This record gives sequence, structure tokens and C-alpha cells, in this order.
Amino acid sequence: SYRKGGYHAVRIGDPFSGGRYIAQRKLGWGQFSTVWLAFDTLSSNYVALKIQKSAQQFAQAALHEIEFLSAAADGDLQNTKCVVRLIDHFKHAGPNGQHLCMVLEFLGDSLLRLIRYNRYKGLKLDKVREICRCILTGLDYLHRELGMIHSDLKPENILLVSTIDSGKDPVRSGLTPLLEKPEGNANGGGGSSTMNLIEKKLKRRAKRAVAKISERRVSMVGGALGEEASSKSERSLDGIDMRCKVVDFGNACWADKQFAEEIQTRQYRAPEVILKSGYSFSVDMWSFGCTAFELVTGDMLFAPKEGNGYGEDEDHLALMMELLGKMPRKIAIGGASSKDYFDRHGDLKRIRRLKYWPLDRLLVDKYKLPEGEAKEFAEFLSPVLEFAPEKRPTAQQCLEHPWMNVVSTQNDADNVESQVRNLKIKG
Ligand code: ADP
Ligand code: MG
Repeated sequence: SYRKGGYHAVRIGDPFSGGRYIAQRKLGWGQFSTVWLAFDTLSSNYVALKIQKSAQQFAQAALHEIEFLSAAADGDLQNTKCVVRLIDHFKHAGPNGQHLCMVLEFLGDSLLRLIRYNRYKGLKLDKVREICRCILTGLDYLHRELGMIHSDLKPENILLVSTIDSGKDPVRSGLTPLLEKPEGNANGGGGSSTMNLIEKKLKRRAKRAVAKISERRVSMVGGALGEEASSKSERSLDGIDMRCKVVDFGNACWADKQFAEEIQTRQYRAPEVILKSGYSFSVDMWSFGCTAFELVTGDMLFAPKEGNGYGEDEDHLALMMELLGKMPRKIAIGGASSKDYFDRHGDLKRIRRLKYWPLDRLLVDKYKLPEGEAKEFAEFLSPVLEFAPEKRPTAQQCLEHPWMNVVSTQNDADNVESQVRNLKIKG
């Protein structure tokens, strides 16, 4: 896709926006873009540079994303609302055309990577709680203050916040901007005096810093996670602060101005989207529920597959009912697509025998959670996975739920132990 209308090829050390940003290394990519770690010579911070493919429809999509990211940044001057911050945006002319570029605060690994790092075993409930608090804070902000639906919430689109200050001290963090002289000035702007300043700055840094960027350290700074180790031992996340932010506003929409009928990534898609019954903020709550389950268990909550004589959608609806019970008839038959899947009694047309396995039992039987913990977590999660969208709690209500406000169970256990020890000593 590195052709006309496609991706922009980036070499390490390439300058952007008149030399303000220097490309460091590739962080990731999506369907429409590549994302690079870049050094912002103006603020001396590392940033993520999202470079969109150049064709008209991709530029349109980037403008859309910029609209939503800007709105989110404008309402969050303190940058505390758990949404990725848009720092800057500009156009970059390359051989494949004009590319819209977004400069975002540099975040770490995605929750998907965190789940992988933990070998799909699931995280401790206290860690899950910390992560849920961030996601819910972000959603509450988007929904209640901005009237925005994210529409693509999933572990991949939630990134950990770096706990190490990557920006201010590249020497100590092992990071350094690449020392190649910014060559040319492809995108115009930035006079030669600016370039000289930048060059001087880079050279000064060069004397102090290691010349070669350290992949490992970038990964450390990014998300505090290394590569997945080959040993089978348990991986500890103790001491890692689980703050995170919601990213990827490429599919966001205003609640009162929707464009797309089919939204969300398959596994995180709400039933009303499949049935085409109309949707609102509560679709993000459904995806949140799926994500929380995945953090606890390491498994996707719903992974529908096409089968013999039925499609992925019908399998998806069947999986939902096996976990959550039969869908109320009114909801089942109430959507524009309902007739494709349900008969007039509200039974699935092609999948007749369902094997019910309710959430609290699943957590105990399959995932070996202690009964009490399973019950409490299921009590938190079940309302989020209500078939009736209007019955789902809001992000704000979830934040107030007792499960979200449990004091660390580990500390409780420690306290009990130390009390018992004290008693023994005294006794
Ligand atoms: P797309 O819309 O194409 O899915 P995303 O915005 O999700 O693009 O970005 C693609 C990938 O780039 C992410 O999954 C992540 O690995 C990386 N990425 C995106 N934004 C950042 C950021 N602010 N900091 C660090 N990495 C990022
Ligand atoms: Mg994405």
C-alpha cells in the first residue's frame, strides 16, 4: 500500500512539520494509517505521529477523527479524562500524495498486549478495577459531557499510560532522538534559522545521549511491558500503575448525528447493532462489559463463528443468550434485521438448542474464580450486558457501583493475616 493514495513511507530521522517532529520508529499501524514514535523538538517530548494514507476518503476519515479528538481535548484542559490527547495536526506532502498527520501524546502498550503479556490468564481483580476506572472515566466524559459515542471500544483501542517520564530526559530513559540531520524540508514552512536551531539542539543532545535508540527501552517507556517471555512462569504486574486512555476516534460519532448503521468490532458489538434497532451511548457500555470480562479471564466474552446453516450474527445472538438468558421477545423481534434471525415467538430460526451457562457459574467453573469474587464481579457486569439498552447503567453509574469501590482485596487479606499474627504473638 505504499503507492499513490496509500501509506507514506517514513525513514528513521525523517522530519515533519517543518522539522518540528523527527521520526524515531514505527509504533503500529491500522487500516488507514501508520503510527510512529517521533521526537517533538519544540517541547522535547516524545509523541505519537499518526500518518494517514493520502487518498481522499482517508483524508476525510482523518478530518473526522481530528474533529472528535479536538472536541475531546477542548473539554479536558487538565488532561485528566482518560482520553488520548491530540497535540497538533498538519498536512505532509510526500511522493504518494498529501497525508494528514495527527500528533498524539505518546502512550504505551494496548490492553490487548497486556492480556497477551499475561498469557491470556487474566489479570488480578484489583488491576482490572484500576483499568475499568480509567475506561469508565473516559466513557463518562465522552457520553455525558460531549455527547459522543466512541463506537469501537475494545482492548486494542485502550492504551496504557507510561509510568516513566519519557519526554523530559531522553538520556536517563535511554531514548534519544535520532541524530541524522533532518534532510530537506518536504512539507514547507520552518525557515532555515529554525532548522539550524533544531540541528544544534539535536547535536547537543547527541553529546549527552547514546546515539542508538534502544528498542527495549522504548517498549519499557511505552508500556512497561517487555516482549513476552518464553518461560512459563507467572508474570507479575505488581507495582505497575494501571492507568490507561481511550484511543482511536476514527469511528466516533455524535449521539444526535449518526452516520453508520453497522458499528463496532464484531466481538464487542451490541445486540441492538446486530438487530438494527437503533443505538446510543449504551453500545459503548456493552463493549466495556466485553472488555472487562476479557481482562479478568483472558478470553473474549463472545467469539462468534459462522456454522453449518447459520451465519456469524445468529451465532453471536445465540452466544449472548447462552450467557445472559433468553432475549425478551419484544427486543428480539423489534429490530429492522430481527426477521433474519428470529421467528415471531422470539426464538432463533436456525440455532434451536441453547446451552445456558450463566456468568457467575462460568467465572467459577471455567475460570476458577473464588465463588465470592465471581458473584461480586458478575453482579457488576450483568447489568452492563442487559439486552435492553436503556436498562444498562451509564458509565457514571458504573463508577459508583460497590464493585468499583472495593478496597484492595489483597490489602484486606494482608490485614487479616497480620491481625492473626498479632493475636498469636499476644496470645
Ligand atoms: P487505526 O484507526 O488505524 O486502528 P489507531 O489510532 O488505533 O489506528 O492506531 C494504530 C496503532 O498505533 C495502535 O493500535 C497502537 O499500537 C499505535 N498507537 C496509536 N496511537 C498511539 C499513541 N498515542 N501512542 C502510542 N501508540 C499509539
Ligand atoms: Mg485501532
